[in-house]
Amino acid sequence: MIKLRGHHLFCLLGYRGVGYSEEYAATMTAVHEALRNKPDTLIQVVKGPDHLCAKFPDDQPYHCEETGIYVRDKEILKRLGLTYSDVLPWREVERRIRLQVKPDDIAVICETCSWREYGVCEEGVQRTIEAKGLLPLGADPSVNARLLK
Ligand code: SF4
Repeated sequence: MIKLRGHHLFCLLGYRGVGYSEEYAATMTAVHEALRNKPDTLIQVVKGPDHLCAKFPDDQPYHCEETGIYVRDKEILKRLGLTYSDVLPWREVERRIRLQVKPDDIAVICETCSWREYGVCEEGVQRTIEAKGLLPLGADPSVNARLLK
């Protein structure tokens, strides 16, 4: 079972293999690939820092305990009709996103996130709405070029 906080349910949709550090990205890649290859993998919603936050690099400002991040978690869980400790398969998270989220919601819910400008999270929501699942990493070189510029 993979423990995830609310906003990471959305971050995984836009993840393209680039993260805050190599170690952080390696962990995110492992989670992303597990969910992409096996959408029946169970996830548990947690309050506050999760499995991914544990790999946040020491040399960057730690934002995982900021109030605004908790607010973002809460808003996303509300949209998906989820609460802390809920356990469900990733496939069901995608189904709820398909029914209850629009790409434009990212601009509102994630207003202050530095990754938002790349547009990958909106694209990820759109893919989910179209029931395409998580994008295989490396499948869209233009996206990676955008992120690595
Ligand atoms: S904009 Fe930031 S917080 Fe929102 S889903 Fe994307 S990476 Fe996650």
